[in-house]
Amino acid sequence: MAEYDFDLFTIGAGSGGVAASRRAAAYGARVAIAESVRIGGTCVLRGCVPKKLLIYGVHFAEDIRDAAGYGWNIDGARLDWAKLIAAKDRELDRLNGIYIKMLGDSKVTMLEGRAQLVGPNAVELGGRTYTAKHILIATGGRPDLPPVPGIEHAITSDGALDLKRLPRRIAIVGGGYIAVEFAGIFNAAGVEVRQIIRGDRILRGFDDDVRDHLAAEMTKKSIVIDSETQITGIAPAGYAYRLATHAGGSIETDLVMYATGRRPNTGDTGLEAVGVQLNKRKAIAVDEWQQTTVPGIYAIGDCTDRLNLTPVAIAEGRGLAETLFNRNPMRMDHNDVPSAVFSQPPVGVVGLSEAAARKLGEVDIYRAVFRPMKHTMSGRDEKAMMKLVVDRATDRVCGVHMVGADAPEIVQSLAVAVKAGVTKRQWDRTVAVHPTTAEEFVLMREPVKQPAKPALAKGVAE
Ligand code: NDP
Repeated sequence: MAEYDFDLFTIGAGSGGVAASRRAAAYGARVAIAESVRIGGTCVLRGCVPKKLLIYGVHFAEDIRDAAGYGWNIDGARLDWAKLIAAKDRELDRLNGIYIKMLGDSKVTMLEGRAQLVGPNAVELGGRTYTAKHILIATGGRPDLPPVPGIEHAITSDGALDLKRLPRRIAIVGGGYIAVEFAGIFNAAGVEVRQIIRGDRILRGFDDDVRDHLAAEMTKKSIVIDSETQITGIAPAGYAYRLATHAGGSIETDLVMYATGRRPNTGDTGLEAVGVQLNKRKAIAVDEWQQTTVPGIYAIGDCTDRLNLTPVAIAEGRGLAETLFNRNPMRMDHNDVPSAVFSQPPVGVVGLSEAAARKLGEVDIYRAVFRPMKHTMSGRDEKAMMKLVVDRATDRVCGVHMVGADAPEIVQSLAVAVKAGVTKRQWDRTVAVHPTTAEEFVLMREPVKQPAKPALAKGVAE
């Protein structure tokens, strides 16, 4: 008889937990996965996927306006928000079904309910104790709300994705990925958006040119960005809300959304009782092998609060399964992970920002700001920004940044070259695909003179 009920017991059926479990099962491991909400996790049910579906939905507003410049006459187009939300929900149900089927096909045992660690090899769920040789914590994270008086009146991204009716005005507090993406969604859907940030600029950690360029484009779309503003209280005011600011001012709005970061789901899991160490942010401390402080217990994804991106959690999970069940030790490499902000226009980045690269050595900067060909006729006043950061000592392209249509798709491909260590010399030997926006990336020959600000490189109609 086997010593343990399972070879691997995964707590949390989000993207990371499911990927690890399926990969482990593919190598013959006996795997169980526990989920207390719905199989699919944040990305599929409350994050990346529904958000992107809403972005597709609202983006037609701009497409319809652009079409006029190309001779189309589209009168009377209007968004039925409730219909969009219902269609999104149907798609999420479909994906949830696919995840359940995939786990079933992989012979992973699915258990419903909140699992709790009760020993280094034991988990309790629904009044039963299961034993496992290895335990994987993949419990993700959830929105973190600051203790502002009246915060109970605010919604988070969870509520925003399920909003039954659009408000006339919304105030979004926060300047990170989620705040910026929802500012774009609501703005495109016709809502008056005010984004309230405590710092001087949106998207801390991103390249400064990205931050400035995107903020300028958002402002052109009538999104108001209130910088260096702290909210000190939220109070109902008739059918609306009044937000008090630290400077003694007030902002009236019909809906308040907070997107001020996420925190790891590590409470109520029995982690500390069995000796798993948490860090200051209550995230699980792990090494590069996803090993926690207790041998045999591992953690991946947002509950470890490292690089909180779905594909990273998936790579961590698959790497762990390779290590444990395929004699193929795989450490996670968190360098040069590409990422995107699905703002309007979107952002795509891979590698270092100019500021981060400058801390490591001398750099050359290549930058182009231009109006894409499509908008010469659409009439839309939107510019794309592309930027390369090159390490002068090695000639390596160590940062690629873009704000503009299709930036995430373009940067995904360029990330292959960056990850492979491409030099600027090799980069320059690449022939352009014409006429495209992406070709500008291989046409930037001259570094910009520092500290001069953006040069206009491909100004079709500047
Ligand atoms: P972020 O950590 O990206 O941003 C949090 C924002 O909230 C920052 O602007 C921060 O300001 C601000 N903030 C924090 N605390 C307060 C406070 N008390 N009062 C006012 N403002 C505050 O968090 P998000 O919630 O946007 O996203 C969480 C994570 O989810 C991201 O880090 C990312 O890993 C992931 N994600 C990825 C996406 C993608 O890949 N496209 C999309 C959405 C989420 P300051 O800058 O001053 O600290």
